[in-house]
Amino acid sequence: MTITPDHQVAIIGGGFSGIGAAIMLDKAGFDDYLVIEEGDGVGGAWHWNTYPGVAVDIPSFSYQFSFEQMADWTRVYAPGRELKAYAEHCVDKYDVRRRTRLSTRIVSAAFDEDGDLWRLGTADGDTITARYVVGATGVLTQPKPPAIPGVDEFDGTVMHTARWDHTVDLAGKRVAIIGTGASAVQVIPSIARHVAHLTVFQRTPIWCLPKLDTRLRLPARAALRLPGARAATRLASQTFVELTFPLAAHFHNLLPVAGVGERLGHAHLRRAVRDPEVREKLTPRYALGCKRPSFSNTYLQAFNRTNVRLETASIERITPTGVRTADGTDHDVDVLVLATGFKVFEKGNMPAFTVTGAGGVDLESWWEEHRFQAYQGVSVPGFPNFFAILGPYGYNGSSYFNLIETQMAHIVRCLRRARRTGATRVEVTPEANARYFEQVLGRRRHQVFFQPSCTTANSYYFDANGDVPFRPSPTLETMWTSSRFDLDDYRFEGAAVS
Ligand code: NAP
Repeated sequence: MTITPDHQVAIIGGGFSGIGAAIMLDKAGFDDYLVIEEGDGVGGAWHWNTYPGVAVDIPSFSYQFSFEQMADWTRVYAPGRELKAYAEHCVDKYDVRRRTRLSTRIVSAAFDEDGDLWRLGTADGDTITARYVVGATGVLTQPKPPAIPGVDEFDGTVMHTARWDHTVDLAGKRVAIIGTGASAVQVIPSIARHVAHLTVFQRTPIWCLPKLDTRLRLPARAALRLPGARAATRLASQTFVELTFPLAAHFHNLLPVAGVGERLGHAHLRRAVRDPEVREKLTPRYALGCKRPSFSNTYLQAFNRTNVRLETASIERITPTGVRTADGTDHDVDVLVLATGFKVFEKGNMPAFTVTGAGGVDLESWWEEHRFQAYQGVSVPGFPNFFAILGPYGYNGSSYFNLIETQMAHIVRCLRRARRTGATRVEVTPEANARYFEQVLGRRRHQVFFQPSCTTANSYYFDANGDVPFRPSPTLETMWTSSRFDLDDYRFEGAAVS
C-alpha cells in the first residue's frame, strides 16, 4: 500500500542536533522535513539553561558547525546567550524556521509497517506522519530532582538549574545549592558575591581544571577574519578538545594525558583554595575522566569567601525551612537550588517518548533486554527508518557538533541510497549491529571508565548494566567510518526495490 506521509523526514528536537540535521538534509536535497520542538524556542540546552554563569565548557571554536563558523564570539568559551543567538542565526540563515513547529511535544512514535512510515503522536492529540524520523532530542534535557525526601515541603523557593527563575532576586538571601557538577561549577561563583550566604552540598567532588578562557576583543575577532586564521584556531581547539576528552578517556591505558590532567587539577586546587581542610574535601578520589570534569578559574576560589560554606555531610531530608544533614544539623535557607543534573541512560529518557518499531517492539524494552546498543549510535535493528543523532555508542565525547555532523553524514548516505533505489524502508541488519556492539565492548579495556576508582565517582556515564555507552573512537575515526561504512549493513526495501 502506498501512503504519502505528511513529511519525508520528521526531526524530533530543535536543539543544535535538530538544527544541524535540518541543514544537512536540506544540503543533500531532502527539503521536505519538519523540526518538532517541545519548547517555545530553538536552541535546546541553550534555550532551557539560563542560570547565572551559563557558558559552553569547550572552546567555541569547536562548539559550532564546521560550515557556519563565527568570528564574533566574545569569549573563547562563549556565554549561553551567544549560543542561543547562534541557534537563532542558523535557523534563519538556513531557512529552518518555517519548517519548525514549536511548543509541540512528541509522546509516541510508532512504525506503520503497511505504509513504511512513522506515526508521531503529540501531547495535543495530533498525529504527524513521516517516512523517516531523526531523533535529535539530546540526552541532558530532563531535569532530575534529587532522591531526597521533603523537597516538596520546602517553604522557600526551589529551582533546578535548568529551569532558572529569573524573577527570584538572590541578593541578600541565604541560598543552598545541592550538587557540584558542571552546572553548579558555573552557578556557584556567579551568585556567591550577591547572596548573604551560600551553602554548597557536595556528595562527590568534581575534577576542576584551569580554563583557558579570555575575552575576545575586537582586534582578536578581526584577526580571526584573516585568511587561514579561523581554520588554524579551529584546528588548535579541536586538538585540545580531542586530547582532553576522547583520547584521554578511551585510550587511558595507552596515553599519559589523564595523569598530566590530574597533576594540573591538584596544582589548580592548591593554588585556588586557602583552607587545607576545604581543599581536602574538594579533592576527587577517582581518576580524571570517570565523570565529566569541569574547567573554571572561579569555582574553587569561591570557597575562600567567608559567605560560602562547603558541606559534605550527607543530606537526610529537606525540611520546610532548609536542609537537614545526617549529623542532625538544620541549615536554614531562603532559596534551594537543585544543581542535580538530568536523567541520562535510564528509562523514560532514551528518548522521552515511546518508540514502537516493527512487530510492535518497544525500544526501551528492547534495550532493557539487550543492553543499550545501536549501530554506530544511529540505528537499531527492528526500528526501520528511525535514526538517532545521540544513540548508544554514538558520542565519543568530543564537540557535540562533531557528533551531529558525523551522524548526519551517516544518515544522509542511507537516505541517498534509498532515494536512488526507490526504497521506502531502511533498516540496519542485526549482524551489522552485533558486529559493532562487539567492537565497542572490545575496546573497553583501554577506557578510563573501567578503572577501579571509577566505582566511587557516581558518574552518570554508567547505565544500569554498568555499561558506558560512549563511542570508544577518536573523532577522525568516527568521521571516516560514517562516510565509509558498508551500506549493505542496511537492508533497503519497499515498493520500488526488487
Ligand atoms: P551532574 O553533572 O549530573 O551533577 C549533578 C550533581 O548533583 C552531582 O554533583 C551529584 O552528586 C549531585 N546530586 C545529585 N543527586 C544528589 C543527592 N540526592 N544528594 C546530593 N547530591 C546530589 O549535572 P550538571 O551539573 O547539571 O551537569 C550535567 C552535564 O551537563 C554535564 O556533565 C555536562 O555534560 C553538561 N553541562 C554542560 C555545561 C556546559 O557546556 N557549559 C554546563 C552545565 C552542564 P554525585 O556526583 O555524587 O552524583
